[in-house]
Amino acid sequence: MTERAAVLIVGGGIVGTSLAWSLARRGVDGVTVVDLDLAGLYASSELNAGGARATWWQPVNVESCRATLDFFREHAERFGFQERGYLWLYDDPALFARALEKRELQNASGLGVEVVEPGALHERFPLLDRGLDEIVGATFSPRDGLVNPNSVRAWYRAEAERLGVVFRNRHYVEGVVTRRVAGAAGSLREVAAVDVAELAKGGATDEGGAVRDALTTHRVAREHRVGEARIHCDVVVNCLGAWSPIFSAKIGITDVTEPVRRQICLVDVHREDLAQGVSLGELGMIVDASGLYFHPEGGHVLAGYSTPDEAPGFDFGYDGRDFFEAEVWPRLANRSSSFERCGHVRGWAGLYAVTPDCSGIAGRVDGFANLFEAHSFTGRGVMQSHAVGASMAALVATGRFEGVDLSPLTRSRFADPSRWVQEELHI
Ligand SMILES: Cc1cc2nc3c(=O)[nH]c(=O)nc-3n(C[C@H](O)[C@H](O)[C@H](O)COP(=O)(O)OP(=O)(O)OC[C@H]3O[C@@H](n4cnc5c(N)ncnc54)[C@H](O)[C@@H]3O)c2cc1C
Repeated sequence: MTERAAVLIVGGGIVGTSLAWSLARRGVDGVTVVDLDLAGLYASSELNAGGARATWWQPVNVESCRATLDFFREHAERFGFQERGYLWLYDDPALFARALEKRELQNASGLGVEVVEPGALHERFPLLDRGLDEIVGATFSPRDGLVNPNSVRAWYRAEAERLGVVFRNRHYVEGVVTRRVAGAAGSLREVAAVDVAELAKGGATDEGGAVRDALTTHRVAREHRVGEARIHCDVVVNCLGAWSPIFSAKIGITDVTEPVRRQICLVDVHREDLAQGVSLGELGMIVDASGLYFHPEGGHVLAGYSTPDEAPGFDFGYDGRDFFEAEVWPRLANRSSSFERCGHVRGWAGLYAVTPDCSGIAGRVDGFANLFEAHSFTGRGVMQSHAVGASMAALVATGRFEGVDLSPLTRSRFADPSRWVQEELHI
């Protein structure tokens, strides 16, 4: 089967879907999104914690998240956006001093980040009643909050489809080959085609002067390949999140992104056992000094912790009650007597797409005429999704970023450490 797409977006997570919608609303016709599983079994977009904050330490992250949160706020009811704030606890004086420095940048963007003295923590957040003597300071960012990422992605998709975007499910992109653009200077190349025969050899390669003009994908149903599809495309955008290195390798790029497992669990807090006067009701996200983060989720608490020695890999295995008992419960109980008695409900694991500076990658792929990328947004792809989609759509359609300038996030920065967008407020 052969199809045609003016713009082929590879990966239908929240970033690819947002981009598809933004392209369509700019009037770009012929946008197709392909994904191996649009239900999101392998998509970080369906496996995350639903936190949404603009309080970062790097201007491009602050601005892209701020713009996205403004958009969430406009559709607050539809997206389940709750402006309940982020409380951040510090036990490291040097880190807290940096947080105070960065408050200037954050508040210049209208975030209104407050300092909370350790002595005032319990009064303001009665839930916190343990280990507060080790806290050297805290910040509270009232305009941050929580969002339902599944609703956001579903909305981007529904709006994109209404404007004519085609979503192809169960299409696994096997690879692409590239060709040289006739008459172009230097090594400019164009993503073009993969030949089915190449697939049999285990992948696509640069075919030099040979011209092919379709990206080939295989349809997959469960584990079985049931057919092949070729999609002729003028432009390709890699929106593969943590899976991007596999795609990059097929076009000869060694990606800096590493997929790293992150686990979250739901905690049964036995509400009747909560200490008197304590309510989880209005709390937003709390980021503990230990690295644990948690927030109310329905009748439970959602808690996540990034084990520091987690090896990179495509691992979706959840360690279950062991994870809860070793990593989550002790940290919760160390900060609040209300968590003395709580239980493990269930949990899951998803992939962070981690880059060396913990910021995302967005822009045109150097050396290619028609290849773009927007992926590896570590722990902030949901909260950057709207701004990234809109600015990337402008780049694809006009050659320039619009709205939030994403140029600090181009891949070329990794060649020069002074251009890294080192994001330290990373969990
Ligand atoms: C535990 C956890 C907690 C997180 N918490 C937050 C949070 O609180 N707030 C926040 O903003 N972010 C959070 N994140 C990060 C956020 O989820 C991601 O940054 C974001 O979802 C990335 O979106 P994406 O569209 O780039 O990638 P993904 O959602 O991963 O989408 C990539 C898509 O590519 C598809 N795919 C892969 N290979 C192929 C192929 N060869 N062919 C076709 N399709 C393919 C996959 O099926 C998938 O649908 C968290 C992540 C995790 C794992």
